[in-house]
Amino acid sequence: MSLSLYNTFTKRKEEFKPLQPNKVLMYSCGPTVYSHPHIGNFRSFVCADLLRRYLEYKGYRVTQIMNITDVGHMTTDDDPSSVEAGEDKVQAAARKEKKSPLEITRFYTQEFLELSQLLNLKPADKYPLATEHIPEMIEMVKTLIQKGYVYEVNGNVYFDISKFPDYGRLSGNPLDKLMAGARVEVNSEKKNPLDFALWKQDPKHLMQWDSPWHKGFPGWHIECSAMSLKYLGERFDIHTGGEDNIFPHHECEIAQSEGALGHKVVNHWFHIKHLLVNNQKMSKSLGNFYTVRDILQKGYNPMVLRYALLNTHYRQPLNFTLEGLDAAKNALQRLSDFKLMLSEKMGGAKDAGCEIHDTRLETVRTNFEQAMDNDLNISEALAVLFDFIREANKSTISQQSAINNLLQDFDRVIGVMTVQEVAVPPEIDTLIKEREDARKRKDYKRSDEIKQQIKAKGFVIEDTPAGTRVKKMWFITEKCG
Ligand SMILES: [Zn+2]
Repeated sequence: MSLSLYNTFTKRKEEFKPLQPNKVLMYSCGPTVYSHPHIGNFRSFVCADLLRRYLEYKGYRVTQIMNITDVGHMTTDDDPSSVEAGEDKVQAAARKEKKSPLEITRFYTQEFLELSQLLNLKPADKYPLATEHIPEMIEMVKTLIQKGYVYEVNGNVYFDISKFPDYGRLSGNPLDKLMAGARVEVNSEKKNPLDFALWKQDPKHLMQWDSPWHKGFPGWHIECSAMSLKYLGERFDIHTGGEDNIFPHHECEIAQSEGALGHKVVNHWFHIKHLLVNNQKMSKSLGNFYTVRDILQKGYNPMVLRYALLNTHYRQPLNFTLEGLDAAKNALQRLSDFKLMLSEKMGGAKDAGCEIHDTRLETVRTNFEQAMDNDLNISEALAVLFDFIREANKSTISQQSAINNLLQDFDRVIGVMTVQEVAVPPEIDTLIKEREDARKRKDYKRSDEIKQQIKAKGFVIEDTPAGTRVKKMWFITEKCG
């Protein structure tokens, strides 16, 4: 069955056809490393990871590149006309935290990578840093100059969008509409307020490099054009990013890459909708701003957060709430209980009820795949999974290993189950034994004390007719970052 994906560029669902058989080249816009990443940033990364995992599930070998922006992203970049007016985000953070730009970017890059691992994102093949690719960016700007797309004023180098008629096509905003939206600015240097900087000179900027024009630093957009060319080549399959990247960032990337190379570069644009918190735009002033650390420090398991970030379709806005997180936690608990039940049934106990047949397992797999093939309809795919669990919980299970394989295969896509399994350490086993002895002696005070000791070590015990069960509690014990 073939996968269909919505393409922002053509504004319709298309059958996904890679450039080379069985291989997918994918570029994901990564983080700007100047602060703790928030849950909206990670929604975009988790959904890109879901896409990558599903492509791999379908047998493609995926090469994924994710850039790390450590220079050139300005504080007020939403509006291209204000690019020059802003301050570099990294530099602003360095000033605020009284650190050097390098200290800032190293710290937040490290944190980003740790959080990515905690949220079970498959590592990209490479995480290129913008500051390590200045020569590649300069090369591309030189090519754009040769091809007549660029003008230079006082050491600042601008892309002249009037030379690139397709500018505005990705965002679906014709040029006049974009122009009307552009804030009027006092910048006599630019011919058109939508022209964007490829190279800037600013003596106050802390990060400076030599260039053929003026000592300075690159604009934000050029890094992705230069680094995708270096690591994926002149044409690649998929470019991912948050919907806020569509304009101006990806619009500018298309202008730069296609201007320099003279042909289409990206086949498929994949954009993830924004995230709301309690139905409002997340903002520090509204007090509904959550970083990933905030959520983990509230005691939520990273897998719960991952599940909450991916279980709404990527093209729907996700309304994030703490109740939603609790629902995610319950869903994962149901999965975990089901797996435990399966392993216990391996021991022989069987309930009466319907039997699950192999043909039923095949249908479940087909339905899951059909949902995912339809533009990654994850909510439907998860409904298939949970309907099956409900059914299996009431049935006689005689093919545990086939069901386990099915769950494992689904988890190659959703990535929330395997890392849940935490081995029970011997010290906990010893405590459980002691507690059982105490209960036999009817020393309930001691039994409760031991239960609390076990809890303090991150495990929770439940007494069932089949004996005492122990589960890892849903929290992370160590701080990240
Ligand atoms: Zn980018």
